Amino acid sequence: MPKQYKHIFFDLDHTLWDFDKNSGIVLQKLYKDFQLHEKGVTSFDKFYAIYTDINETLWEKFRNGQIRRSDLRSKRFSRTLLAFKIGNEKLSDQLSTTYLELLPIQTELTPHAREVLEYCNNKYQLHLITNGFEVTQKMKLENCGIINYFGEIITSEKSQSMKPHPTIFEYAMQESGASSNESIMIGDHLEVDILGAEQAGWDQVYYNPGKKTHNSSPTHEISSLNELFNIL
Ligand SMILES: [Mg+2]
Repeated sequence: MPKQYKHIFFDLDHTLWDFDKNSGIVLQKLYKDFQLHEKGVTSFDKFYAIYTDINETLWEKFRNGQIRRSDLRSKRFSRTLLAFKIGNEKLSDQLSTTYLELLPIQTELTPHAREVLEYCNNKYQLHLITNGFEVTQKMKLENCGIINYFGEIITSEKSQSMKPHPTIFEYAMQESGASSNESIMIGDHLEVDILGAEQAGWDQVYYNPGKKTHNSSPTHEISSLNELFNIL
């Protein structure tokens, strides 16, 4: 028999908040305003690709406790510049500061995110579980005008644990009063969101807009958020 869900837990970055689009807008602004082309960054596309790659690698290390938050923030830009043979710590600090100022005020949501929230809000209690910083994530939600949809906003900073580790899922149940059999997690990351929720005994919806191939078996898989209307 299908489970009766009461609580829906959404991931934020890449699931509701269009991280790639928003980050792209900010990186484009940095590229232009800091005249990176003149400083030796040969093209925006390369800058974007290299930064994204380095950022993802560093985030994984941060999730695994191998580096600190300050390392993540400073190294992603200094390493990107170094890839273009630019050793300029002052510039990399400026890029990092400006990026962090501008990113959370961007407001691009993923396709159908707003409709899905509106639809689900009438039927379920909605919450967020996000590996991110308290102030940054709340700023994103406020600026997009979607913060009021969520009962509990669980950040890794607040819960002192990161998806996929069980502690953050336990913390989320405690804060929301949800039990595992009435909870479902919707997220774009197989290891972080889907495996984490599965280990916590929750059902999961893997949001896979790029239709990447994989060997996992989430409860549901969708490539567009509007498919949620058939599931929920
Ligand atoms: Mg995500």
